[in-house]
Amino acid sequence: MRRNRGILTVVALAMLLISVRAAVADEHAPAMSAEQALKLLLEGNQRFIAGKMEHPYQTPARRVEIAKGQHPFAAVLACSDSRTGPEVVFDRGLGDIFVVRVAGNVADQVVIESLDYSVKHLGVRVVMILGHRRCGAVIAAVEGHEEPGDVGPMLTELWPAVEASKGAPGDPVENAVRENVKLVMKKLATSGELSAMVKSGELKIVGGVYDLDTGKIEMLPN
Ligand SMILES: [Zn+2]
Repeated sequence: MRRNRGILTVVALAMLLISVRAAVADEHAPAMSAEQALKLLLEGNQRFIAGKMEHPYQTPARRVEIAKGQHPFAAVLACSDSRTGPEVVFDRGLGDIFVVRVAGNVADQVVIESLDYSVKHLGVRVVMILGHRRCGAVIAAVEGHEEPGDVGPMLTELWPAVEASKGAPGDPVENAVRENVKLVMKKLATSGELSAMVKSGELKIVGGVYDLDTGKIEMLPN
């Protein structure tokens, strides 16, 4: 009897270990490929542009479903601008998108670490850098200051984009918005945290610019 109980305990412990391992593996496993994830985001944006939103996963049932763990299919670094909320412009819901928002959608070390977490621990396989037209932070950087040393951390992060796009034909703010998205994409792709996964093709970093008037996200070339 005692021996049987011992065996049962061993079996129960083994089963517990297997289920814990499965749960851990599941947490790290990607929700879907980068291509699938990007497709979902852009389809949602098309619905938003057309005013045919489905508002998926914005229910109490979804809240309960994901309360014990998140498994977002994409990460988005967007500007804090109140007109550019990723869940809205991609027509998605709770638990879908891991969002980092900061004025000017710049990537300092805290931002990089946050995105790194979504990739390494939540299984995200696509990270989108989402700039937007007429971005106030970029306007401040373009119009504001002559020397990078004169400004705070946010404008200092934006300075390389202003420098790189200076003198280019077209609107200086639009040019700097695009250049900033490209530079942030490059910074993330070459960061110590994410570069290996980008090189191996496991992770895609993409960039887009949101149009405040039409709601459309224009994807930038990689
Ligand atoms: Zn902005």
